[in-house]
Amino acid sequence: DPSAYLVEYKNSLTAFNAAKKDTIEGKGRLNNLISSALFEFLGGKGIPTHFIRRIDDTHQLVRSVKIVPIEVVVRNITTGTLCRRLGVKEGIRLPRPLIELCLKDDALGDPLITEDHALLFGWTTTEQLQKIKEIALKVNSLLSEYFLPLGIVLVDFKLEFGTDGEGNLLLADEISPDTCRFWDRDTNDRLDKDRFRKDLGNVLGAYEEIWRRISGKR
Ligand code: UDP
Repeated sequence: DPSAYLVEYKNSLTAFNAAKKDTIEGKGRLNNLISSALFEFLGGKGIPTHFIRRIDDTHQLVRSVKIVPIEVVVRNITTGTLCRRLGVKEGIRLPRPLIELCLKDDALGDPLITEDHALLFGWTTTEQLQKIKEIALKVNSLLSEYFLPLGIVLVDFKLEFGTDGEGNLLLADEISPDTCRFWDRDTNDRLDKDRFRKDLGNVLGAYEEIWRRISGKR
């Protein structure tokens, strides 16, 4: 079926534009379970996604899309590159969600771009960008509400979008502790890839904890 892809979730883990790499047994399975659950949840709330179904522990069936070459980052709390880039303090809750656009280009290190860059170089259109931002904000409020009762604060995350054969804009890629920052509401413990980026230890345990809380809810 040329309109579907089989996605494999791998155990490899990279950070800092792949300057830091590792493999963690069991990580692919957890990200597949988490991502599948979140795509199902968002699909049920009317968000158009590429997700069709989970096939097994490490595979998903998805609609094939042409990826919009922009990474869309949504932030609720300051951390990561935002703090490094602008010299702002970590842990400040923003008065409203902040959307950032980055060009998807590993060789350039996914540079931050403005909306004008995205439009003038034809990486998206005005209409598509409007939809992308609307969906990104909706995903942010849906996921923030989803995670709060699980004792998890959604700090920030990255989304990717694509268009299917009929030109529909779909949320694509993955939604997992590799692409989101999750902080424990009570302890502020990092339950995401920051455990790997910052050598905090017990990376797999954090991903397991996210899945434990999600599967408890389901
Ligand atoms: N992110 C991602 N892929 C990237 C860059 C960022 O999934 O290539 C996610 C990251 O996990 C975090 C959010 O986007 O949840 C914001 O990341 P940031 O810009 O702080 O960059 P990072 O510290 O990940 O380099």
